[in-house]
Amino acid sequence: MKTAIVVGAGIGGVAAALGLERAGLRVTVLERAPELGEVGAGISVWPSAVKALEELGVEGVEKAAVESAPAGMRRPDGRWVLRAEALGVEVPVMIHRARLHELITERFQGVSVRTGVTVDGFVDGAVRAGGEEFRADLIVAADGLRSVVRRALYPAYDGPRYAGYAAYRGIADIEVDDGGGETWGRGRRFGFARLIDGRYYWYATENRAPGVVGADVWAGFGSWHDPIPKLLEATGEVLQNDIYDLRLPLVPFVQGNVVLLGDAAHAMTPNLGRGACTAIEDAAALPKHLKNLKAYDAERRPAATKLVRVSRTIGRVGQLDSGLLCGIRDGAITLGGKLAGVRARKRAVGQSPV
Ligand SMILES: Cc1cc2nc3c(=O)[nH]c(=O)nc-3n(C[C@H](O)[C@H](O)[C@H](O)COP(=O)(O)OP(=O)(O)OC[C@H]3O[C@@H](n4cnc5c(N)ncnc54)[C@H](O)[C@@H]3O)c2cc1C
Repeated sequence: MKTAIVVGAGIGGVAAALGLERAGLRVTVLERAPELGEVGAGISVWPSAVKALEELGVEGVEKAAVESAPAGMRRPDGRWVLRAEALGVEVPVMIHRARLHELITERFQGVSVRTGVTVDGFVDGAVRAGGEEFRADLIVAADGLRSVVRRALYPAYDGPRYAGYAAYRGIADIEVDDGGGETWGRGRRFGFARLIDGRYYWYATENRAPGVVGADVWAGFGSWHDPIPKLLEATGEVLQNDIYDLRLPLVPFVQGNVVLLGDAAHAMTPNLGRGACTAIEDAAALPKHLKNLKAYDAERRPAATKLVRVSRTIGRVGQLDSGLLCGIRDGAITLGGKLAGVRARKRAVGQSPV
């Protein structure tokens, strides 16, 4: 039997481990955290990732998730920029991150998970961790944005790039009568959606220098339209991340028997809500290309590059700070939404059996 080492047990790493185990490999996962798990936040899972999860044998994501109503986009005072109901666009399901992680690891049969192991190098084909050396037929680097393995393979690649804003996330234990959606202001955005257990997941972004500790979300969003202040009041812990993505062009995802996967390969800003989805899709693709790893790179890198680029652009537009430019932006989105709505209605009429 062939062997694989997966570095990192985030959503990408565990999904890869599951796919490789199902393909008949003996898999060891190395994770620096003391325990397996995920942070306390929600996550959007798009239909393509639901399909990839099914390919990995993970069924029932929809049962553990809520289909998010595409409620649209508002201004901070609550006026609608765009109502998305009429657009006929695909929508993701919303799920708690920890639950998604668990749905994947529950399917492990004999994957060996070693927590508390920090990989500190990759030398002469071996993964090094505090004096220990790990070798395998296949090495999967799923160690995130600041991947140690990627740095060892491509020392000249200056990967992470600060996007200019921070993200805040929380879960509000409250019932509100609102379909959710996003609200875009000047240099700030807020979005929220209901989770299956009735709680609300919210996220927010704010233009800021990197490395600032301590978020005052109330100062930024407390005066925004209802139910945003209510959601903030009903939130315990607020997670904070400076937002980075990887510089383009991305490095090849395959070098010898080493494969980059998830954020290690293509960290993107969260504006499309697709980073983890893309990691899951990588994981579903990898077992199909074990005989020719270059085909994994050929399939995954162009798709991921496009998402990194589009996500970055949406972030730039979303984080505009000038009143004039935000006015033009909001007007253009309203107009674009109307045109898309007309197209969707025409499609629906065309498809109608009557
Ligand atoms: C605010 C925000 C909101 C987001 N929302 C969404 C969303 O709605 N939908 C979506 O699809 N994506 C979303 N994303 C993106 C998503 O979180 C990431 O793309 C995804 O978590 C990447 O998974 P990963 O397993 O590749 O990397 P990570 O989650 O970064 O996991 C890497 C793992 O490797 C471990 N590790 C790192 N270095 C080492 C080492 N040296 N030795 C051993 N272990 C190591 C880490 O501890 C970690 O467990 C969001 C991101 C942010 C910041």
